[in-house]
Amino acid sequence: MMGRSDMCLVGKLHTRRPFNFDAMKSIMLSVWQPTKGMQVRVIGDNLFVFVFGHVMDRRRVLLNGSWMLDKHLLMLGEMDPNVQPSNIRLVSVQFWVHVCNLPLILMNKEVGQRVGNSIGKFIDMDFEDGGIAWSRTMRIRVVIDVWKPLWQGMKLSLSSADPLWVDFKYECLPIFCHFCGMLGHSDRKCDAKLSSADGTPVDVLQYGAWLRMDTFKAKGTRRNVSIDKSVGVRPSVGQGTQMQMVSEPVHRGEGTQ
Ligand SMILES: [Zn+2]
Repeated sequence: MMGRSDMCLVGKLHTRRPFNFDAMKSIMLSVWQPTKGMQVRVIGDNLFVFVFGHVMDRRRVLLNGSWMLDKHLLMLGEMDPNVQPSNIRLVSVQFWVHVCNLPLILMNKEVGQRVGNSIGKFIDMDFEDGGIAWSRTMRIRVVIDVWKPLWQGMKLSLSSADPLWVDFKYECLPIFCHFCGMLGHSDRKCDAKLSSADGTPVDVLQYGAWLRMDTFKAKGTRRNVSIDKSVGVRPSVGQGTQMQMVSEPVHRGEGTQ
């Protein structure tokens, strides 16, 4: 029997590839190590319910994501028992995002919240009691929509300085498309890339390994690819500026999906 919904999580592997359900189940059991066991039930095509034996295990799994299986994102969501499986759509997942190139003065909770809420929904960030988040990068936890292209960065407009471009890097980023920026497929399997076979060069990749925080020393940099120079401005920032932020994301795939 299915457990209570507060003991369950709905799951979906964000991939078009076939995968071995039993292998997925045993891997997640070994990774999560639920104290009171866990069952997994298939409720649809690449859609399953994890039934935990203890509510704390469920909570821990939900809070500590995102989870990956063989470099593919395992999307998890709360279960609504009133919704038909065919109507369940998992859309969001939490990532730690590093905001790079920020002056120290802007590494604070207000900026973290505003950046986070621009690219998704701000959840949390690394900062000390005084609200200071000084580090090499500002690290924010954000819920993002997995059905939209990743954000490569954004332009911050400061009231007393020229706009400032900041790059984003994502921790534990699963497979994503270097052509359209969507999670869940590589550029070799990209419908947008295939459908642009109208003479447009398709070998220009707008995204790359530089978006991964864990491949900080990856070959190549974003400067090797075509980026909208109109928003890629990196001016120096004056001291003590009043911050006023304007969201100007780079969403290469937007409107093409
Ligand atoms: Zn793609």
